[in-house]
Amino acid sequence: MYAKRQKRLISYLKTELNVDVALIMLPVHIYYYTGFLSNPHERFFALLVDVTSGKTNLFVPSLDVEEAESVAKVDAFQPISDSEDPYDVLNKIVPKDANTFAIEKNYITVGQFEKIQAVFPKAKFDNVEPFIQQERLRKLPEEIEYVKQAIQITETGLKNMLETFKPGMTELQVKAALEYELTMLGAQGLSFDTLVLSGENSALPHGTSSQRKIKEGDFLLLDFGVHVNGYHSDITRTFIVGKGTEEQKKIYEIVKMANERAIESVKIGEPLKSVDQAARNLIEEKGYGNYFTHRVGHGLGLDVHEAPSIHSENDEIINPGLLFTIEPGIYVPGFGGVRIEDNIYVNKEGKIEVLTTFPKTWTEI
Ligand code: MN
Ligand code: MN
Repeated sequence: MYAKRQKRLISYLKTELNVDVALIMLPVHIYYYTGFLSNPHERFFALLVDVTSGKTNLFVPSLDVEEAESVAKVDAFQPISDSEDPYDVLNKIVPKDANTFAIEKNYITVGQFEKIQAVFPKAKFDNVEPFIQQERLRKLPEEIEYVKQAIQITETGLKNMLETFKPGMTELQVKAALEYELTMLGAQGLSFDTLVLSGENSALPHGTSSQRKIKEGDFLLLDFGVHVNGYHSDITRTFIVGKGTEEQKKIYEIVKMANERAIESVKIGEPLKSVDQAARNLIEEKGYGNYFTHRVGHGLGLDVHEAPSIHSENDEIINPGLLFTIEPGIYVPGFGGVRIEDNIYVNKEGKIEVLTTFPKTWTEI
């Protein structure tokens, strides 16, 4: 898998970008091309691709070199100790006649860029990120296996937490209880700060969990995810604490229907915007259009938010390999909000797989 990816990268660098070397520094991209997942913190960490020779060289902090050597699929390793200047090492390793570099322009810092420029004053720079982003769109079954593991932990954790939930707990206490379950089940980390929002707080699509005590009659919205081997899940479910009102039930059923319509609309060859429109049209028809204030979904994988963006103007076509969320919501200020979020995979055969399985039926807890 990694050899194949590297081959495609080198071919692109050679024939499309026409560069001499690529310097890939985003840890997620280094993982994507080598199988080595590592957070270097502030230390220098980069995959150097020599386009002419087709050789790869991983610049890795000395303290991580043993682990890197046991995992990373590269031709050579270049350990860098804390007392060394990584740019001196780069100067020694990069071929002297290299004048064109592919870098990640949206990731590399100005400081890093200036140091590279100081070492290679004549160099020209091109951006390799759009290509890698395109490559990452097509998820392989091996990648989906990790996503499924992440989803399984997410859903089991939610089920376990609900068994111990009691009105009177604060949002932060529910958050802690949920995160405890997720960690006990093997989550290697949380995909983002877990959202536990209740009552009027649930009307804030990106609110912050607080000391608010959850009480009877509240919506309880939970939006969270975990990662396993670098791959993320992202799910939202909304419950009602105790007995709900007619108005709450009405809003809930509209969001559920919008979620289902959007899922049904996912079809190979159709534009991505049709998925957003399916949910949006339904919510508008029911009179809540002004309360659905965000796009219907986003890609996920090595990042919890990545391409493609599922919004109402995106003309990109639905192709096999896409993995994305569908998460319509209705948020009524001062009243409360409902969001229902699933993770959808378009498999190699073009079949639509809904990877999330947690029930979406109106549930009073
Ligand atoms: Mn989410
Ligand atoms: Mn999401």
